[in-house]
Amino acid sequence: MAEELRIGIGTDTHRLERGLKLILGGVEVPSETGAVGHSDADALTHAVTDALLGALAAGDIGAHFSDQDPRWKDADSLKFLSHAMTIAGGEGYEVANVDSTIELERPKLREHVDRMRKNLATALGIGIERVSVKAKTGEGVDSVGTGAAVKVTAIVLLRQR
Ligand code: MG
Repeated sequence: MAEELRIGIGTDTHRLERGLKLILGGVEVPSETGAVGHSDADALTHAVTDALLGALAAGDIGAHFSDQDPRWKDADSLKFLSHAMTIAGGEGYEVANVDSTIELERPKLREHVDRMRKNLATALGIGIERVSVKAKTGEGVDSVGTGAAVKVTAIVLLRQR
């Protein structure tokens, strides 16, 4: 029988380069630089997916969706999250809540956050009020602060249905 509660953490980092799309939580954010990656390089969705898989002790996103697999080239990462949610549901769990923090120097993300929350909530089959997306800058230092990378940390709590 499934345990009542399980918690998982996920992190993701993507390098930023000019001329690429910046997709976070399934939202294309207008930006001078975008994220480098095999799929759509959506660091927020990757971190939430890893947190969900972590709560299930089901390995990591790379084990389920290899970056060597041509099927996932430019893939919509929300599909990864939906797949992880299917695994969770199959084990008798639903998501109680998600919290996340995006670290990105620019642009400011506030006007995009609610659409990210909505996309994540839809993939997880829960209401938007259960999904938190926060954003902060790197204060000009480190890989985030110099605009070289986007980093995300996410945590997911599962409960038995
Ligand atoms: Mg990633």
